[in-house]
Amino acid sequence: MSSLLPDTLPLPGLPQPIRTVSRAVATNSRLALTDHAIRRFWAHVVRAEGEGCWIWCGAISKPDGYGRFTWQTGGERRTVSAHRIALMIHQAAELPEGIIGEHGCCEPLCVRVDDNHLWPGTQSENINHAVALGRHRGNLPVMGSQHRWERSVLVRDAVRQGWDEHAYHRACQKLGWDEGQLALW
Ligand SMILES: [Zn+2]
Repeated sequence: MSSLLPDTLPLPGLPQPIRTVSRAVATNSRLALTDHAIRRFWAHVVRAEGEGCWIWCGAISKPDGYGRFTWQTGGERRTVSAHRIALMIHQAAELPEGIIGEHGCCEPLCVRVDDNHLWPGTQSENINHAVALGRHRGNLPVMGSQHRWERSVLVRDAVRQGWDEHAYHRACQKLGWDEGQLALW
């Protein structure tokens, strides 16, 4: 079998998953999570004590600073943002189109699904939430994408060996931004 060709071809007239081929492993944008993948996902999460955030400590996307999880099964692979995976696991289903993960805790690496941290919402709800929190500041510059990525890497590296409250807050503030200055994530 040629590694340059997908092993399935779209049928005309039917919606098909997006498939591309890389090193003979096809990317399938609808690949279902497996129990093994879910276990691997949680193995990359460090949980703060009590009601704190659960921090994704795996790969981080550049430039947006969100966590990123890739799994593979049956010769296919898929990559999804870590917080979206958390919502998919919580709902035991794909997220409907247009649904985003909204972070009430302002921590883009957080994968704790509850009313204080992460929940499914829409883009407009996300903006309303930001306005309500006073994070939407007219034309003032918001955290640039480079800083978002740098911040997430600092946070991840501060806690990946185990939760450390002081190291976490130091990482949050290292670039001169405190948590309240985070804009729309
Ligand atoms: Zn959180």
